[in-house]
Amino acid sequence: MTAKFKTDSETSLSVEYRPLELEQEIRRFWERNRIQQKLAEAKEKDNVGVLGYVEGPPTLNGIPHVGHARGRVMKDLRYRWKTMQGYFVPFWAGWDCQGLPVELEVEKQLGVKNKRELLERVSEERFIQECKKTVMKYHKEWVKLDSKLGVFIDQSKAYWTYHDNYIEREWQILKRAWDQDLLEEGHYVVAYCPGCQTSLSNAEVGFEGSYQIVEDPSLYFKFKVADKQNEYLLVWTTMPFTLITDTMLAVRPEADYAKVQVGKEVWVLVKPRVEPLMKELGIEKYKVTVTVTGKSLENTRYEYPFKDIVPRQAELEKSHSLVHKVICEDFVDIETATGVVHLSPGNGEEDFFAAMKHGVPIFAPFDDEAKFTAEGGKFCGVFARDTDSMVVEELRSRGLLVEVKPVKHEYPTCWRSHHKLVWIARKEYFLRTDKINTRVLEAAEKVGYFYDETKNRFMSFLKEGKPWCISRERVWGAPLPVWKCKECGAKTIVSSKKELLEKALEKPKGDFELHKPWVDRITFKCQKCGGTMYREDFVLDTWHNSGASTYARFTDEEFAEYVPVDFLTEGVDQTRGWANSLLLEYVILTGKPESPYKAFLFQGLVQDAKGRKMSKSLGNVIDPNKLLEKYSADVTRFYSLRKCSPIDFIDFDPNELGRRTYQILSTLYHLNRFFVQNAEFDDFNPNKNTLEWARKGKQLKGPDLWLLSKLQETVDMYTGKLETCEFNLALAVLEDFVIESLSRLYVPMVRKELWTDDPNTLDRRLAVYATLWHVLRAVTLLFNPVTPYLSEALHQKVYRRLDSTLPESVNLETWPKSDHKLRDETLEEDFRTLFKCVSLVYSARQSAGLKRRWPLNKSVVVGPEQVCKALKGVEELFLELANVKTAEYATGKTPSSVASEGWASASEGELQVFLDAHRDEGLLGAGLMRDLARRVQALRKELGYMPTDVLEAVYVSELDDESIRLLEPYVAEMKDLVRAKKVLLRGADGEEAVEWHESQLDDKKVALAILGEKAE
Ligand SMILES: [Zn+2]
Ligand SMILES: [Zn+2]
Repeated sequence: MTAKFKTDSETSLSVEYRPLELEQEIRRFWERNRIQQKLAEAKEKDNVGVLGYVEGPPTLNGIPHVGHARGRVMKDLRYRWKTMQGYFVPFWAGWDCQGLPVELEVEKQLGVKNKRELLERVSEERFIQECKKTVMKYHKEWVKLDSKLGVFIDQSKAYWTYHDNYIEREWQILKRAWDQDLLEEGHYVVAYCPGCQTSLSNAEVGFEGSYQIVEDPSLYFKFKVADKQNEYLLVWTTMPFTLITDTMLAVRPEADYAKVQVGKEVWVLVKPRVEPLMKELGIEKYKVTVTVTGKSLENTRYEYPFKDIVPRQAELEKSHSLVHKVICEDFVDIETATGVVHLSPGNGEEDFFAAMKHGVPIFAPFDDEAKFTAEGGKFCGVFARDTDSMVVEELRSRGLLVEVKPVKHEYPTCWRSHHKLVWIARKEYFLRTDKINTRVLEAAEKVGYFYDETKNRFMSFLKEGKPWCISRERVWGAPLPVWKCKECGAKTIVSSKKELLEKALEKPKGDFELHKPWVDRITFKCQKCGGTMYREDFVLDTWHNSGASTYARFTDEEFAEYVPVDFLTEGVDQTRGWANSLLLEYVILTGKPESPYKAFLFQGLVQDAKGRKMSKSLGNVIDPNKLLEKYSADVTRFYSLRKCSPIDFIDFDPNELGRRTYQILSTLYHLNRFFVQNAEFDDFNPNKNTLEWARKGKQLKGPDLWLLSKLQETVDMYTGKLETCEFNLALAVLEDFVIESLSRLYVPMVRKELWTDDPNTLDRRLAVYATLWHVLRAVTLLFNPVTPYLSEALHQKVYRRLDSTLPESVNLETWPKSDHKLRDETLEEDFRTLFKCVSLVYSARQSAGLKRRWPLNKSVVVGPEQVCKALKGVEELFLELANVKTAEYATGKTPSSVASEGWASASEGELQVFLDAHRDEGLLGAGLMRDLARRVQALRKELGYMPTDVLEAVYVSELDDESIRLLEPYVAEMKDLVRAKKVLLRGADGEEAVEWHESQLDDKKVALAILGEKAE
């Protein structure tokens, strides 16, 4: 018999599943045949609908980490799956290019420490060029990752946030805000990073990991009540520098405040805090003399102690009657500290609002580097937080210090540089998103989030509804397109390059782009007074850049067609980031309570194997490009989707990749290999030997019908779990079908039928192939969104090999749908009973030391009537799987015959199985033969024979007489089992010129030899 298939590795599956090699080959196949482009073109031309998409642009300020890989895998899963369902998805890349992160990276490269040094040593032109170079450098790494991971995102259609056309459309959104009075300039308390030398948005302050444990002074001090001898208001702070900008004290109006006699002094503080605080300060002798309400303290004047060294404070006191007085505020906390809060409207948000309410002037004597200006008096030129210790000393020398000690507490730091943030009232530009908060919330309510906890987190953040500070005092960014008249202060906004050039007093010569410094050189003539208008020297928050993407990355036509987009997914850190900025800008743009996305899945972040955050300092950051040199993309993809729910933080452990995940994919690979080898051997033709053909010829048996039924359930459950983004549960369904239903249950039920070349049973074998073709092919398609390389390899080397009319790529195939006609729940129930009984037989065998391949005479099943009935219906299979010759059934009482010795048993609930453990010579011989056949099978495999190769002869020698006698009657059966023309049993050493291999049979040594030609 000649082999009917070639073993060319390009067109057939190699003996082992080696994913790294296979993925390289498939990647070449995709590139050579432009599969990704063909897929996009095909769906654009012919689809069942359009699902809009906009890429959440990674910032090109560093190489991707493994967390990015997880997100990209989820995006690609959705893309492949939806295109297989027939949709067109504009799955186009996008890159966030500007902003502080890139600037900091370039500053590091250039070796400059701050913005001032940057402007002095490096020109803005040069700096912008360097920023672009950096962006391109990292871009390469990202594209490489997409290619390795097999992400089919269209790089040729990528958007770049720094391109003029993108910036113009971003400006158009600002113009819309301007027209609705939502864009304004104003003083506002913003978080300021002294390291990055710019303000941060409210959203950035709340970023993951920005709160850190830091050390600050815990300071108790007292302000003397004016016009009273020895009476003081007791105050606490961890930011002594804010005393320099102190303008008021606040108390809670309805709370009780105590006047406490301490030595010769009277201290005023909230009553419930007296005892604990005195204990904390180590003061034993004290006495509460009077209790008053907070309200009664209102308007109390206190002596601001630094008027001599901060003369401006003396002027402020004259300018407004409330300066250096006590006011009543509901936000005052009376559970901690003293219940008397000092207010620095120039350095705190609540303080700021309180001052605004009362019309008290904002005192914020800080320059661009958060250093005190001349108005800060003695502290002029010193960075705000560096004055902390100076202030403490000033208090001490004035006898106002009660206690100071270091305290460790959680405090917001810059998410980039981890400098302690300071709050400073600055002149900034704001989007007054607080004014449209109702519409924003209404829009957000309509979005699908898949998981309640992520929705709740997003909604509660949005409810804060604070104005959005969008101005940044930096260089590499989209310029704020607002020009202001130097004479009269009138302002105007532009929304295109064309408009800009039309209004320009002098047209630019040479290079011109919508960036600093070029735009700064453009001036306008003021329409009101004829004066000159200059651009307001700000760039836009980078979150505003990416937040514009649903509008800015498309043309008007595309925007109309693709937005609102269908589905987005990003890390949970984007709750305050991109998800927020997209939504806000879209509501501004449209003026409607609509979201630019219909669904948003927030993914959990990636941690190391021990559940620790990945960080440079811990050295546990995983570079996915390096990871994928060593590990397969398919295995990585499967693992990162399977290990936990997409919203959970995943503890990524590369060591796990080679284990269970590899086993699952390897099983799928070998099932396909087993199928294609057998099918080709029997000349299976999928177009002729269809399921319909097999059904008509009554060749489909219980196991086939059962498997087909299970497939329908699997398709429905899997697709349903993908819809709800429960990727881990979806893959559990698929895994169970491959490992349990196919590999562990179905194949063992049909293997024996395939293990023959008897022409009389050919049709039955073809029916099994028809079943496997149908089922395995569907499974291959279901795997495609998760393991695109493996699915493509199987499509090419199994399915297209058998049917060349199939689509050129697995990606061009159609998503499987369940067929209710193939579902048979009664049959599934019967099979559940069957498998339960078989597994009881196995445990009974194990407890009695009876190997599964040893045939036994009799089994007795005792159980409920419906169980016995179901089992009788599939008795043939039961006998085969249980490897017993007969079965008897009993309902109710256990028959006395089996209660005797010589019976093995196992039970579960009401179900009991008994096995006749006695083995006569016939059974012993059959068992011995099966043991021997198994050794021969292993040897065949080891020597590289295909399962379909027929051997000339099998030699067994060094057998004892007893074994030969027992084996002799089973030689013919063994020939079939090991696929050999003859089997020769010997006592002494074989004399044939063959290669002998040592083996074992029941603890005895035997020698085996095989003779036969291998397939090419
Ligand atoms: Zn910073
Ligand atoms: Zn003017």
